[in-house]
Amino acid sequence: MQLSERIERITESSTLAVMVEAEKYKARGIDVVDFGPGEPDFPTPDHIKRAAIRALEQNFTKYTPAGGILPLRQAVCEWHHAQLGTSYQASECAVTVGGKHAIFNTVNVLVNSGDEVVIPVPCWVSFPDIVKYAGGKPVFVQTHEHDGFCLHSRDVEAALTPKTRMVIVNSPSNPTGAILPEEEFAKILDLCRRRGIWLLTDECYSHFLYAGRRPFSVASLPDAKNTVIVCGSLSKTFAMTGWRVGFVLAPEPIAKAIVKLQSQSTSNPTSIAQHAALEAVRGPMDSVASMLAEYERRRARVLAGLRAIPGLACTEPQGAFYAFPNISACPTRDAECRAASNGRLDSSVVARRLLESAHVAVVPGEGFGAAGYFRLSYATSIERIEEGLRRLTDFFSQD
Ligand code: GLU
Repeated sequence: MQLSERIERITESSTLAVMVEAEKYKARGIDVVDFGPGEPDFPTPDHIKRAAIRALEQNFTKYTPAGGILPLRQAVCEWHHAQLGTSYQASECAVTVGGKHAIFNTVNVLVNSGDEVVIPVPCWVSFPDIVKYAGGKPVFVQTHEHDGFCLHSRDVEAALTPKTRMVIVNSPSNPTGAILPEEEFAKILDLCRRRGIWLLTDECYSHFLYAGRRPFSVASLPDAKNTVIVCGSLSKTFAMTGWRVGFVLAPEPIAKAIVKLQSQSTSNPTSIAQHAALEAVRGPMDSVASMLAEYERRRARVLAGLRAIPGLACTEPQGAFYAFPNISACPTRDAECRAASNGRLDSSVVARRLLESAHVAVVPGEGFGAAGYFRLSYATSIERIEEGLRRLTDFFSQD
């Protein structure tokens, strides 16, 4: 079967692939401890669900403008202003079918064939493929475990060439949980501004910061708006992954181009989901605070449990809800993992064997550009975390 050259450039999302694999085991009645998906285990808050029910009852079941209804675009700008100190107008906002769609559309309206896009690694699995699909070339900037996977502006600067079109930053980071300090963010902004490069900031986890840190958007810095594009998502903040609502905040010509692309592809995000989203951004934020408190409790448990495994190293995530342990130096009782290792464990084999033999789902580091690691999502209950840690401890032990 000859598919397009474009589709052959990319691979399936490894986060979604792990979800599908885990589902197969669950369908056979197997008790899987699922640390795979980056998806809140909390239900969507009631007031948001009720808004969707009202929308249905009031027959908001028809097409809307491709970039979202005006009240929602206005409300997203107001919410972003109140929460993150920015000043966008509805004309600078497009509502998208989730955060991934926001990034996909932004890259596709800005990146030309051969353009370079700087991506810090470890990175979210979809950034490189989205860039490749648009014809661009991902240029990776390494971040390091020894300093908490912090991105440094000097490394970004060293990666820039005359072909660089965009820099993508994701803070807190999926998969490492690293937070880019505000001073470093400001330096990267300045760099991009001076060189005429777009700075795409993926704010998917903006509200999940630990130790009392306050959400921050680089778009709130003076003179940022002509350089920064905000890609946001309601999926994590409001536990709305399945509703598929995200947004872009950008200079008006970019927002318009995204709406044009949507007018010829998805059309509008689901009308009912838009009404739920309107309630999410206009309503109370207390459910977000309670989810954060629970994630913080789980983070402590996960970190202590992982660090008790011999040979395993894990940096403390500062935000989001992922741990990203380095398992390459762990011993294991699993013969297949031992046979495949070359003195250091192969994380893709480990992830596969963990699911097959211990029934624990994790995402291997390879998809994030970091072999030797795996990502564990702790958006699951403390009881499941305890069970998962027991299985991991057993897997990484010697007979
Ligand atoms: N962002 C989440 C994750 O990394 C959801 C899955 C996806 O879209 O990649 O697991």
